[in-house]
Amino acid sequence: MNSTINSKHYQICKNCIMDTSDSSIVFDEKGICDYCNNFYNNILPNWHPDDASEAEIMKVVEKIKEEGKNKDHDCLIGISGGLDSSYLAYIAKEKFGLRPLLFHVDAGWNSDISTHNIHKLVEGLDLELYTEVVNWNEMKDLQRAFIKSQVPDIDTPQDLVFFSSLYNFAVKHKYRYILTGGNFSTECVREPLEWGAYYQTDMRYVRDIHDQFGEIPLKTFPTCDIFKYKIQYRLLNGVRVVKPLDSVPFMKEDAIQTLEDKFGWQRYQHKHHESRFTRFYESYWLPRKFGFDKRKNHLSSLILTGQLTREAALERVSKPELPEQELLAEFEYVAKKLDFTVDELRDYFEGSNKTFKDYKNNYKLITLGTRVLQFLGVEKRAFK
Ligand SMILES: [Zn+2]
Repeated sequence: MNSTINSKHYQICKNCIMDTSDSSIVFDEKGICDYCNNFYNNILPNWHPDDASEAEIMKVVEKIKEEGKNKDHDCLIGISGGLDSSYLAYIAKEKFGLRPLLFHVDAGWNSDISTHNIHKLVEGLDLELYTEVVNWNEMKDLQRAFIKSQVPDIDTPQDLVFFSSLYNFAVKHKYRYILTGGNFSTECVREPLEWGAYYQTDMRYVRDIHDQFGEIPLKTFPTCDIFKYKIQYRLLNGVRVVKPLDSVPFMKEDAIQTLEDKFGWQRYQHKHHESRFTRFYESYWLPRKFGFDKRKNHLSSLILTGQLTREAALERVSKPELPEQELLAEFEYVAKKLDFTVDELRDYFEGSNKTFKDYKNNYKLITLGTRVLQFLGVEKRAFK
């Protein structure tokens, strides 16, 4: 096992379960981490899923309806079959009375449950589904390249294609509004960039890794550079992103129960398990090769929003998410699907780790761009 946790200086937050496996974590004098302080000081004061915020979101909903009244659909929802996007589709149709087109990207790794859930929702909500199927050979080539590059960001190809397909489709077909399931309730503690969460739309980074380790050209693979999205799509094409789940009551267990009762939707063991690759990546590759366990930020989000006790979260992360035998079977499945022998994939797993800083990237420019947008007031907190 290869862990970046430095046991000499190990410290865990007294309030949540984030710890020094995040090298950038800062603790105050009471032993409370900066994620918690950010939540209490910046997020909580601005997050009231009450009548007032519902009235606010209804104004946006009315605008979406008005602008889309002569169209087949008034907005787009990217759907993975996971909880957040599924619950969003339900709220959009049943509570808001919107007419969304559900947009799904099949990148080759759908779990059986995610396929089941998408069909149940489409049927139960009587909504139209558009599925974009990614060219598997190109998908595979980019995933292989990321694994060979030894960075922790090996889920970037999936994240990139999910994001790009949706936004490219919106612009091409003149959709002005994209509803996303992004929310504070289950995501208020965001993992740091170093935990495999570097910007998936930094195309300079993606291209450098593909140039060095890819084997076939990416001819049809949908991409959308972060600057194209922020400047062209948002400012010129006027694409608006709406995050309704922060404006309505959204608690994980209640939401799951509602979807189960109404649609026969099935629960996942953990967040992001709708993709078999992501499940393998987050429960095996990332914790064991890099020492980063994303359950820590997912479960810390639930602690801060009062949906889980710290004790239950600690108990959960004390054990692997899946039985050892199943993890090994998944290792073989992933190797075979990506055309690696098990030994080849094992060699990459044991190889020396790198970060996005070892490759060409636009990190500095993205950081500067974000500051400029904040300064200009374009980057507002609500409905972005
Ligand atoms: Zn904390």
